[in-house]
Amino acid sequence: MSSCDLELLAKNFHRHNISFLKFNDKEKVLAYLKENLNKAMQIAWGGSLTLNECGILDYLRSEKFPHLCDRDNPDLNQEERMEIERKAFSADVFLTSANAITEDGLIINIDGAGNRVAATIFGPKKVYFVVGMNKLVKNYDAAIDRIQNFVVQKNAKRLGLMPPCVKTSVCQNCASAHRLCNYFTTIRRDYRSDRTHVLLIDEILGF
Ligand code: SF4
Repeated sequence: MSSCDLELLAKNFHRHNISFLKFNDKEKVLAYLKENLNKAMQIAWGGSLTLNECGILDYLRSEKFPHLCDRDNPDLNQEERMEIERKAFSADVFLTSANAITEDGLIINIDGAGNRVAATIFGPKKVYFVVGMNKLVKNYDAAIDRIQNFVVQKNAKRLGLMPPCVKTSVCQNCASAHRLCNYFTTIRRDYRSDRTHVLLIDEILGF
């Protein structure tokens, strides 16, 4: 699936103080999270197909975790949803995926509004990036290419948005109101131990 060297990836994440675990399938990652999350925790997440595909959000909801910050609750109005997104900054755990991780140990994300990428850097006590093997690329340039010439278009279509790259399939560095890549983050290292965790799954998940 990926031509990247997983041993080198593990070494680079270790060097960057980022915890790294690899799983054969999404069932195993769900089992791991079941062991590591508990009902005393306040748990939040950023928008992610991968979390849905792994059954993680269904699990948290069905087990009725009492302190969930469920930004996707359909009963919320816009203001209530933003309030939940703000609450995520004081969560014990923040779950999300990554738009790309690189063999040299970087975690790269984009965001239209910024709440998701901001929480990965500061606020929540612990962050889990749940990532399918399709997101693993060689280096930063490959990550940006993947994001701007593939990920954005797929997500724009999914969300019913029409930035110009949906038609051209190539980034136009646009100023569209539908732009999904207003904010870019690259996590190069974490100065806090046991905060940033990458859970890589040997499957294609999300975009
Ligand atoms: S800047 Fe605009 S054209 Fe380029 S990837 Fe982002 S949304 Fe698409």
